Amino acid sequence: MALAESVLQIVEETARHHGASRVRAVHLTIGRLSHVEPEALAFSFEVVTRNSIAQDAQLEIHTSEGVAWCMECSDTVSLDRLGDACPRCAGYQLQVTGGDEMRVRDIEID
Ligand SMILES: [Zn+2]
Repeated sequence: MALAESVLQIVEETARHHGASRVRAVHLTIGRLSHVEPEALAFSFEVVTRNSIAQDAQLEIHTSEGVAWCMECSDTVSLDRLGDACPRCAGYQLQVTGGDEMRVRDIEID
């Protein structure tokens, strides 16, 4: 719920900044390695946006790939889930470098 609220806060600030009367859609990027559950977030978003400028806004969720640096391979590899081993050397010397973020990518306003 807190996450949906912070998204709404960003959306409201952006809408106000642009003098918008209505928010049509919100595009979110959620990394595969973030702990965000897209369906749960979509539900919370619907709840927190009630009676706000973003009421009825379409929430579009985009997923970004998980990327990690493998110390064994000295290379960047892709990761499906946190805790997975390196797909190349099966080691766990991994440092997540991407795909653990959650951000507002775009907002469509009227
Ligand atoms: Zn590796």
